[in-house]
Amino acid sequence: MKYSSRLITSFLALFISGQALAEKPEDFRFPRECSYTEAGYPVPLCGLPLTNTPVVAESIEELKSYPTHFIAGQEALNVDEMRITTIGSGNPPVRLGQASTSWLVELGNGDNFIFDIGGGTVPALWSLGIPLSTLDKVFVTHLHLDHVGGIFNLWDSMGWGRNTPLHVWGASGHTPELGVAAFVEHVEKAAAWHVLSKTGIAAREGMEIKAHEFDYKKFSPETPRQLVYHENDVKIYAFPVDHILEGAVGYRLEWNGLSMAFTGDSEPTRFEAEMARGVDVFIHELFIDASTFAEKNAMPLALAQNIAHKHTSPEELGQIFSIAQPRLGVGTHFFTNEDTIDGAFAGMEKTYSGPVAIAQDLMVINVSKEQVVTRMARTDLLSWSAPSPKTDTEPTYDAKPTEGLTPSWVSQTRLEQEH
Ligand SMILES: [Zn+2]
Ligand SMILES: [Zn+2]
Repeated sequence: MKYSSRLITSFLALFISGQALAEKPEDFRFPRECSYTEAGYPVPLCGLPLTNTPVVAESIEELKSYPTHFIAGQEALNVDEMRITTIGSGNPPVRLGQASTSWLVELGNGDNFIFDIGGGTVPALWSLGIPLSTLDKVFVTHLHLDHVGGIFNLWDSMGWGRNTPLHVWGASGHTPELGVAAFVEHVEKAAAWHVLSKTGIAAREGMEIKAHEFDYKKFSPETPRQLVYHENDVKIYAFPVDHILEGAVGYRLEWNGLSMAFTGDSEPTRFEAEMARGVDVFIHELFIDASTFAEKNAMPLALAQNIAHKHTSPEELGQIFSIAQPRLGVGTHFFTNEDTIDGAFAGMEKTYSGPVAIAQDLMVINVSKEQVVTRMARTDLLSWSAPSPKTDTEPTYDAKPTEGLTPSWVSQTRLEQEH
């Protein structure tokens, strides 16, 4: 066998880097084998939730028991329960084990809601085996790309299974071009080639995307929150959060006596904590300390301090939870690594003693009146889509696919296809 010198060089490079990595092979396996941090938390991505209280309950009598892992597609949701799944627990750096930001809320009445759709999040959403036609409602906290960068994947991969448009809720901005309506309009324009090419292939309605923009300027001390969605006994309120520009909001969803709040990104304020007061699950951003952030990202400390200052430290998150008093507080948008979680839990514990969890992708929280149970999901890495429930409305397919828009001198050389 002959090798070129270039091939030998690349083999050598692989061998050398492989040797360096092999010092801790468990770090590069998925799912990782469980070991425990000094404080006793399981390392991330080993199938156990990062929490001091996996079951939050008033009383331990007559509690429903759940399997150790949530197995996608195999566990029906009780009609009176809410299930919250972390689709992405990270921030702008999309990591293989931690996508940007997205949360799925499923309700026992069959309704599903997506909160944010950051980059890299759609594979986890897909892996849950949920009928695609039911994933048509997205609530956007703000227009940072780590919160909306997955919109094209969501629109495309779920679109063919949907007979209805993708609906996107979010706030107006300081000027019209900074609002959610303008964002959606430009997403649609950017996809013009894509949509035209799908004529006659995908249901026309599934290729539509519609904005539901609410007026940020209506928020005031007298109107601290707006009811932006009210259907099927589900209420979703929006309220402003302190995050750089006008238009950044948090949401509070209420249904069947259960509730959750998600605040996207924010500098901690008493106001947002009060807006989330008493919810069952309060999901709030959490940021590592500036010196660790600078060291891990090879970044000047001053720059890291500027970024960290715009976010929420563990101690501040504890203060937020102390005011809001959720049944379970969840820190997310965090660099969830085995050497960051002990410090985060310790920081939160300085200011708060209630149940808390740190999110990792595919964490599942079942919420009922009796208890709040936190587990990790096991999903099929190569899952197929789940069949959609039958609906009264038939999809509209354009009779003829788009044809004749490639140069004839190319298309005339098409090979005969066997059918
Ligand atoms: Zn963010
Ligand atoms: Zn942001």
